Amino acid sequence: MSIQLQHISKQFGAFKALDDINLDIPEGELVALLGPSGCGKTTLLRIIAGLEQTDHGEVYLQGDNVTAQPVKERQIGFVFQHYALFRHMTVFDNIAFGLRVKPRKLRPSEAQIKDKVHSLLQLVQLDWLHDRFPDQLSGGQRQRIALARALAVEPSVLLLDEPFGALDASVRKDLRLWLRHLHQELNVTSIFVTHDQEEAMEVASQIVVLNHGKIEQKGTPSEIYDQPQSDFVSRFIGQTNIFHLQKEDSAWLESAGIIVDEPKGIIAHVRPHNISVEKAANPAKSPVYLNDWQHLGGTIRLELNRDGYNGSATTIYAEMPNEQFRDLALNKGDRVALRIKHAHWFN
Ligand code: ATP
Repeated sequence: MSIQLQHISKQFGAFKALDDINLDIPEGELVALLGPSGCGKTTLLRIIAGLEQTDHGEVYLQGDNVTAQPVKERQIGFVFQHYALFRHMTVFDNIAFGLRVKPRKLRPSEAQIKDKVHSLLQLVQLDWLHDRFPDQLSGGQRQRIALARALAVEPSVLLLDEPFGALDASVRKDLRLWLRHLHQELNVTSIFVTHDQEEAMEVASQIVVLNHGKIEQKGTPSEIYDQPQSDFVSRFIGQTNIFHLQKEDSAWLESAGIIVDEPKGIIAHVRPHNISVEKAANPAKSPVYLNDWQHLGGTIRLELNRDGYNGSATTIYAEMPNEQFRDLALNKGDRVALRIKHAHWFN
């Protein structure tokens, strides 16, 4: 089902948790709600679910106004950060639960339930665990079972609140891709909450960036990364170098011989991969040197420091492929020349 939010606002006492949220989510998207702690992600998810009432605004599912509809009438499946599996039930019974509590007229037979549960267990690739209890599963297995349980009732919308938040980094990484592929198979409109920008970029087809109860930007991962529309988005998504051209930085950039092609604003945000680095032809004249560098996998992040600088940022970050870095044959302390290949401009 498609989801439409119109003018959603929510206050807790004097605190505005959500402030006039408008959002259109077409059927079949996998959307990440991304933002810092306390920005309103969970509150928005709970409003879509019907677990929380809005002060103003409407929620539409597939064009129907469901704002006043209770949770159980909304055909929504949930997965939360802390596995909400029933500890006294086996994996099988946990997944079957939602089917067994349906009103008698809609309830499948036990034979149908058995088939359904086994096909879901196959879908989450854990068929062999059907008679285990939650305590006998790993964290990642529990989340996959929680997802199977949410899917059992064939929800039209799936809501996931930091589903992998409690897991360790490597399991988390596996499950992200697994979720993305599962979604491609099922195509259920899904929204997941995360404060981890890498997770949002890797998993989602659309990212909604929230800040202080407002939407800062909505777009595909590459739009959000390559065309940030605000200072906040640019800083929150990935690393950014920020240069204030009307202030201290302009003189500094000039003295460092850094050329900025066609300034289109006052503040330049430059992604690390948009800074090119070379060994300085005239080391005595370059105020920038390589302070340190780190492996990020296929690329190297260079930490470049500036001499005698008291401006907004003392370190400039550049990033380049491993081979390119090797070819430069730079050592710590070497003087470098920089060029800004591309910037985003803000006024
Ligand atoms: P996190 O990533 O830390 O979970 P979040 O973005 O999901 O944060 P919410 O849980 O939506 O944030 O909370 C948004 C704001 O509303 C927070 O400042 C929170 O303290 C406040 N808030 C949420 N629920 C309530 C409540 N029931 N009563 C009072 N304040 C609340």
